[in-house]
Amino acid sequence: MRLVRCKYNSKFRWGILKGKNVVLLKEPPFSKIIRSKTSIPFHKLELCVPAEPTKIVLVGLNYRDHAAELNMPLPIDPVIFLKPPTSLLAHHQNIVLPAGVDRLDYEAELALVIRKEAKGISPDDAAKYILGYTCLNDVTARDVQKKDGQWTRAKSFDTFCPVGPWLETSFDASKSCVLCRLNGALRQRSMTSNLIFSIPYLVSFISRVMRLFPGDIISTGTPPGVGAMKPGDRVEVEICGIGVLENAVVSEK
Ligand code: MG
Repeated sequence: MRLVRCKYNSKFRWGILKGKNVVLLKEPPFSKIIRSKTSIPFHKLELCVPAEPTKIVLVGLNYRDHAAELNMPLPIDPVIFLKPPTSLLAHHQNIVLPAGVDRLDYEAELALVIRKEAKGISPDDAAKYILGYTCLNDVTARDVQKKDGQWTRAKSFDTFCPVGPWLETSFDASKSCVLCRLNGALRQRSMTSNLIFSIPYLVSFISRVMRLFPGDIISTGTPPGVGAMKPGDRVEVEICGIGVLENAVVSEK
């Protein structure tokens, strides 16, 4: 099932995408899914980020092939960091290159949205806490990341967290492809079977650090092939079985 969050009659609503139409839900889909009688053509809706997180938790180096590319040893524990909800960007909205940033990178990632409050859960229970999966672009000001040492500024500019276009609830996250295309040319390609830390392990690990709430987003790291974008570029993150998240890059006015 594909869950979309959209704007309809100036209100944020959730819905189920079926073919070319969206059946609106009576309430957000976290505790249960209750369909309304309203069905809207998909192209008439304004698509929004498919979550309203209190936090976005991302994982550093988490692909074996990316570690090999960088000639880095495999991490013993996941390295996690945060992006603020103000960095979120919907499908087809523009990534803004901030003034003073010289190097803007894409990072295609598989992300998940938390369904219910989670604290100290086990990997075996993690699936029960996941509402669905989506595409995420962990946009990074690489020059700022190197300059600061800390990652917060480099990862947190407004528009640096495109997520979408929707959530897929029936998805085998253990063996899916993760791709990035820049202006149509393939730049990143790997499989989630190359993940160093599995998704159940990550959800459990993060829940032992911080309480997770419905709508929180966890992103699972990026494959090899990370590279630069510039204004005028069009970047796509594709997760096979989910869809394609597409954004253009513009300069700050
Ligand atoms: Mg990343």
